[in-house]
Amino acid sequence: MVNLAETFLRLSRDDFSTLKGIEAGMRTHEWVPVNEIARITGLPVDKADYRLSRLSDMGLVSRETIHYLGYRMDFDAYDILALQDFSEKNAVTCIGEKIGVGKESVVYEALGEIPLAIKFHREGRTSFKHVRRDREHLSDGSRCAWIHAARRSARHEFSIMQRLYPQVCIPRPVALSRHAIAMELICGPGLGRVTLSNPEEGLEIILAEVKIAYDLGIIHADLSEYNIIVLEDQLKIIDWPQAVPTDHPNAEELLERDVGNVLRFFDRKYKLKASLEDALAGIKGPAAPSAAAQEVE
Ligand code: ADP
Ligand code: MN
Repeated sequence: MVNLAETFLRLSRDDFSTLKGIEAGMRTHEWVPVNEIARITGLPVDKADYRLSRLSDMGLVSRETIHYLGYRMDFDAYDILALQDFSEKNAVTCIGEKIGVGKESVVYEALGEIPLAIKFHREGRTSFKHVRRDREHLSDGSRCAWIHAARRSARHEFSIMQRLYPQVCIPRPVALSRHAIAMELICGPGLGRVTLSNPEEGLEIILAEVKIAYDLGIIHADLSEYNIIVLEDQLKIIDWPQAVPTDHPNAEELLERDVGNVLRFFDRKYKLKASLEDALAGIKGPAAPSAAAQEVE
């Protein structure tokens, strides 16, 4: 197990450039030859060798001898490269504890101008075994399936968040690097872990947020009590990588599933009965007039 903050602090400039050399080499090699890493980084081969042994001892890279000695990195090293990029751009000044492990991510607390959550995407991890057989170039020129999948997913989530914020109650998106997103930290329990004093109002607020997103052309497509965080007087919807545009071929089905999940949760926990048809009709109906439009009336 690599401790992210501790490991980050132990790395020197040459360590970082060696990791970046491996990253670049992995676009064309499954196992990047030492000579190639030396060439990319501009380090003499013996220095590159020393850095690579160090990184290997720290658990950041693995090596294999096929007909040459080659290196590759896994998610921990990739997390470190994203973190270094955030740090160089002054988006992140300090990294803290792990605060969440989801189905497809690892989330850390961090500090920037505001308290942050850094979500490191982990899509593609489960298909790791197929990576070796995957000899085709992927669309971004990457040969490595997990890097490709995790990057694409982070990029998609970040662009969706930029499109929805601040109209929809979501964490403020702050920065994107590789497979990682820095966003506003939301301190609160998940919807499934609290008892709302006014569940009717809670449900209404959630459906109103779903409608605002829908009016902006977006369906969450993974909505459930696990992806809703409860604050004092509002809710935040997180976890947007699965989101689809409202003109997606499965849009209807995905919206129905999202709303169905929420209604079933309120029925189960609060015995609150609400009609799925009415909820969907409300969401797909005319957009609520904005405050400005109401003033004119
Ligand atoms: P996954 O797809 O892996 O479920 P999530 O976006 O739901 O990814 O993040 C996993 C967990 O990390 C969440 O359930 C939550 O506990 C925590 N988390 C995610 N984003 C934030 C945030 N902005 N602020 C605080 N905690 C967060
Ligand atoms: Mn989630």
